[in-house]
Amino acid sequence: MRTSYDVVVVGGGHNGLVAAAYLARAGRSVLLLERGPHTGGAAVSERVFPDFDARLSRYSYLVSLLPQRIIEDLELRFATRRRRISSYTPVGQAGLLVDTGDSERTRESFIRLTGSDADFRAWQQFYETTGRVAQRVFPTLTEPLPTRSELQCAIDDSAAWEAIFERPLGETIEATFTDDTVRGVVLTDALIGTFTHAHDPELRQNRCFLYHVIGGGTGDWDVPIGGMGALTDALATAARAAGTEIVVHSAVHAIETDGSTAEVRFSGGTVGARHVLVNAAPHEMSRLLGDSAPAKPEGAQLKVNMLLNRLPRLREDIDPRAAFAGTFHIAEAYSQLDSAYRAAESGNPPARPPSEIYCHTLTDPSILSPELAARGMHTLTLFGLHTPARLFTEDHDRVKQEVLDATLAQLDSVLAEPIRDCLATDAAGRICLEARSPLDLEREIGLPGGHIFHGDLSFPYRTDDDPDPAARWGVRTGHRNVFRCGAGTVRGGGVSGIGGHNAAMAVLETR
Ligand SMILES: Cc1cc2nc3c(=O)[nH]c(=O)nc-3n(C[C@H](O)[C@H](O)[C@H](O)COP(=O)(O)OP(=O)(O)OC[C@H]3O[C@@H](n4cnc5c(N)ncnc54)[C@H](O)[C@@H]3O)c2cc1C
Repeated sequence: MRTSYDVVVVGGGHNGLVAAAYLARAGRSVLLLERGPHTGGAAVSERVFPDFDARLSRYSYLVSLLPQRIIEDLELRFATRRRRISSYTPVGQAGLLVDTGDSERTRESFIRLTGSDADFRAWQQFYETTGRVAQRVFPTLTEPLPTRSELQCAIDDSAAWEAIFERPLGETIEATFTDDTVRGVVLTDALIGTFTHAHDPELRQNRCFLYHVIGGGTGDWDVPIGGMGALTDALATAARAAGTEIVVHSAVHAIETDGSTAEVRFSGGTVGARHVLVNAAPHEMSRLLGDSAPAKPEGAQLKVNMLLNRLPRLREDIDPRAAFAGTFHIAEAYSQLDSAYRAAESGNPPARPPSEIYCHTLTDPSILSPELAARGMHTLTLFGLHTPARLFTEDHDRVKQEVLDATLAQLDSVLAEPIRDCLATDAAGRICLEARSPLDLEREIGLPGGHIFHGDLSFPYRTDDDPDPAARWGVRTGHRNVFRCGAGTVRGGGVSGIGGHNAAMAVLETR
């Protein structure tokens, strides 16, 4: 290790790795310090159940926001696979199936559920509009930030602008769709990773919705082949190949800077840097810099990983391989989402926790050993909503068990057999299920408050005319040579690499 580098990256999440790879390829000397035992942050694959050779995407699991351009620029050996079934929502005897490969099948499903095709037509129009917005907004995410009016001009659709950037999304959903289930399916994209409700006047739900519908210029959520770890492994390989020194087990304790050079203190000593890129969350960054910290963010999800001997049968007459191939919504009708939010906001776990499930192995069995795949085993990932960190602060394990039991009871209510009967058991007789509260995620992977996006998302435009490269790229801090480099950048949430890309571009533009 040298005593000084052009760039020190604090944190080896996927964004830190993207930044390191770009900068090392541009000839900069780069040191990346990761506090954990390996790189990847919230984008990793792990053998969660040691008795079984199944490498699950332990935290994040689907890819939408990663630009093809980053894959090509960094020559990554990484690919995703499209899911034909977008979603399935069981409701009584007639669930809602959205099959992107068969619009007539989808239309029939809407008619069976709602009694007419009005919501289906509204759905098609609504997503044609978000598709056009996606095509116009997504390419801007890897360019310097547009101003608000530049972005509005680029979108060139005043109704779409108003619906997404101006008015609480609930108003648009209620004006566009009539059915409670259909409304709920639309709203979930506004709530994943964001603890809020349809009519939040601060438009947190709109910001979350925007990033969920613009990825890749289509809004599709694809399955990472080989699991999420395949992406971060490819990124670490690219960063190292370009000359980045990656040191794990190296927690950074403090960053001191005079604006032109910095010193980074970590568990292995002190190192100098011209620029420091902070991949850790903004709350942690403030601690490292000795700045006054922003309010701690609050995550609100329960994450459950499961390994199954077989997929469960459903009460409804649908093949589980179709039902679980896309996003499987449970207790996510519009009114149910609202009740769950109201309960959680007032400090009580929702009686019927909303959640969604997806099965990686139906689309990509390569995360299982050939033997497990041949036995017909599958993985299921459950993402529960509206269980904020505040619920778990007292008596964590008891509350977590209660929330888990209530969540699985909701799942069981649509199954023909209890989910627990389908789970694999290990040699010691334990079922293969792990659950993580927001507080678990804070402890395990350093997400303050367990917030999956490091904090509330921002609209992808700038609000000032500061010509500084860090401001132009949305990575500014209060220090001239310290940049944000992760989910906490203006356009950073999700597995996208965009925060890392934009931090690297700001460094390369700085004289
Ligand atoms: C349960 C869950 C499910 C999700 N699902 C999806 C999904 O399906 N699709 C999607 O797009 N997004 C998803 N997300 C969000 C996405 O994973 C994150 O937004 C993204 O991984 C953030 O990447 P990052 O590199 O910016 O930060 P992180 O992945 O958080 O990495 C930051 C790194 O910094 C390190 N670090 C922190 N402090 C220090 C320090 N002081 N010194 C040294 N190192 C430090 C951490 O150990 C970590 O490795 C999910 C997140 C979670 C938690």
